[in-house]
Amino acid sequence: MEKTVYMNDLTLGEMRERLAEAGEKPFRAAQIYEWLHVKNADTYEAMTNLPKSLRERLATEMPLRTLAIEEVRESAVDGTRKYLFRLADGQFIESVLMRYHHGNSVCISSQVGCRMGCRFCASTLGGLVRNLSSGEMLGQVYAIERDTGERVSNVVIMGMGEPLDNYDQVVRFLRMISDDKGHNISERNLTLSTCGLVPGIRRLAEEKLMINLALSLHAPNDERRRQIMPVANAYSLDQIFEALRGYYEANHRRLTFEYSLIAGVNDTDECARELAARVRGMNCLINLIPVNPVRENDFRAPQGPHVAAFKKKLENYGINVTIRREMGRDIEGACGQLRKRYTETVHV
Ligand code: SAH
Repeated sequence: MEKTVYMNDLTLGEMRERLAEAGEKPFRAAQIYEWLHVKNADTYEAMTNLPKSLRERLATEMPLRTLAIEEVRESAVDGTRKYLFRLADGQFIESVLMRYHHGNSVCISSQVGCRMGCRFCASTLGGLVRNLSSGEMLGQVYAIERDTGERVSNVVIMGMGEPLDNYDQVVRFLRMISDDKGHNISERNLTLSTCGLVPGIRRLAEEKLMINLALSLHAPNDERRRQIMPVANAYSLDQIFEALRGYYEANHRRLTFEYSLIAGVNDTDECARELAARVRGMNCLINLIPVNPVRENDFRAPQGPHVAAFKKKLENYGINVTIRREMGRDIEGACGQLRKRYTETVHV
């Protein structure tokens, strides 16, 4: 049986080909593309400049892969909105809208579940279920814009999943969301976060995309990193940093290192010293994130003053550091937590 082609996974060029093959006029592609990627339509019905017969035909032959809002929670503290989406096959994913002074940023998922196994992370607890398609990634941004009526200016791929473990669809997503005939979000406003899949970082460097790269570092040496991130058994920090330097050579975007602070695991003075030594001389920012407690593990964040002291130590070594503003802690902001609780209590 032929695999279903979903219209919202296709580039404009692919749409033209498909429509031509189906005996339709190729100029219809530009109309549909605009409806989907500029006007955020999520049904053919809405595409009022297409003949009704064509809309009906497309709905059966090249359907749209849509996602539905299952639940939204808004933080009373900072206006952050966390979305639980139900996909066409009944799976759930999460996305988060964060409202900053400089604009709205959406954190999207790239997979249902994850197979990286980071010990502090809720997304990985049930393993990987499946990859998301580019259309399902775009759909998260568009659905949030439809829901709020507000434009999204930044997208970070930092939700559920490891984006470089779903390389082709993620790169397709990046090209489509930045397409000037589509949603046209500048590549500079897109960020991909990875736990450090070296071959993926190398490939990404060759794509010549001006997107920002973030590395989930979380430990200053391999030994400590292996205790919390199984991926550290596959790639050493030396290998990862070599790949990161290659990425920087290719597009000169400042690198971000995410460092989730876990009490007694990676928050000692020695860790700060080693961390500073590792990144010294690089054009980078360290983003400290007090670890979000997850029910299934017993990792805890250090006390506030200790986090501030860790930051100060890094600054004394001349490193750029920020402490991630905790967005939406009151709405289970940590990735995977809402889906996990939801699938457990509502459906199992
Ligand atoms: N797989 C990618 C992107 C998804 S995770 C990656 O590893 O970068 C997004 C970020 O949240 C990562 O830095 C991840 O390590 C971090 N994270 C996951 N669970 C967390 C938790 N409970 N507390 C704080 N940060 C967490």
